[in-house]
Amino acid sequence: MQVTIKKAEQLKAKPDENKLGFGTIFTDHMFNMDYSVEKGWHNPRIEPYAPLVMEPSTMVLHYGQGVFEGMKAYRNQQGGVQLFRPQENFRRLNTSNRKLCIPEIDETFALKALKQLLTVEMDWIPSAPGTSLYVRPTIIATDPFLGVRASFTYRFFIILSPVGAYYAEGFNPVKIMVTKEHVRAVRGGVGDTKTMGNYAASLLAGDKAHKAGYTQVLWLDGVEQKYVEEVGAMNIFFVIGDELITPMLSGSILPGITRDSVLELGRSWGMKVSERKISIDDVIDAHTSGQLKEIFGSGTAAVISPVGELKYEDTVITVGDGRVGPLAHKFFQTIQEIQYGTIEDPSGWVEAV
Ligand SMILES: *Cc1c(COP(=O)(O)O)cnc(C)c1O
Repeated sequence: MQVTIKKAEQLKAKPDENKLGFGTIFTDHMFNMDYSVEKGWHNPRIEPYAPLVMEPSTMVLHYGQGVFEGMKAYRNQQGGVQLFRPQENFRRLNTSNRKLCIPEIDETFALKALKQLLTVEMDWIPSAPGTSLYVRPTIIATDPFLGVRASFTYRFFIILSPVGAYYAEGFNPVKIMVTKEHVRAVRGGVGDTKTMGNYAASLLAGDKAHKAGYTQVLWLDGVEQKYVEEVGAMNIFFVIGDELITPMLSGSILPGITRDSVLELGRSWGMKVSERKISIDDVIDAHTSGQLKEIFGSGTAAVISPVGELKYEDTVITVGDGRVGPLAHKFFQTIQEIQYGTIEDPSGWVEAV
């Protein structure tokens, strides 16, 4: 399949690279491709960024049959552009597709199309420290139909948004609150996919945490509400004694690419690394005995998000000394340096555009 390219007649003014936020500015072009039962995935094209025109009965608007991904393109020291483990994002997009009864895409082709889009939008990739071009591949069900079934038609699109440094005000710890009132996902459900409804379902708990003065929700498992799962829309890590622990992928946890990178780096540094069940009581006990050294989240947006305070029911604990721990700092530094190409990439994670 060949990607056809239709260039925008007028280009937008580029934003100030030092004032970029997250997800508000979009580039001049987008990638689009359609699916029908007769033709399969067809008509791949790069064209001007534009509103989607759809009927109010379009299925994704009613039943949420849609999936997405999130990754970034980074400007390296030499002025080139690189992606971080993008094959993993397209592989995960297909995992999400299978769970949502959406036809799979050709992962190799999708990456090729993304690179073409990035080539067209090269001037949009910022170079100020910590900035990047956020990439949002999305697939939505497009049948105009109100019955509940899988759609027969789909749209796959990729949009791009220049984003600022996540830690513009410094790499500071956040406060998190454990919720027992709400759960994010259950085993057998769709918690291990990036599907739209998961995020709508997490808003109320997030709202309550914000009102209580906390940045993120710490989610427990959906059955016993005992075992730690994730923090906000990030995976979570604990440093207890000399062990680096993250909850094992149980089916309700999103398999983060940053999570996987932290695990692999930790192992390569000779650390004791465990993917296992960890209960919230284990975390509180480790704090009481002085063994809880660090807690941090991991995800594409922030890379690493250190936790300084945790609230569980009536207990509030300060993690370490409430400041960024040495391991959170080391993982953050190393992964960022690989992403921006300032250090060698020992695992072949970086993909040049
Ligand atoms: C995207 C996401 C993550 C992090 O995944 P990365 O691949 O590291 O960006 C973790 N949890 C949830 C719920 C997510 O949506």
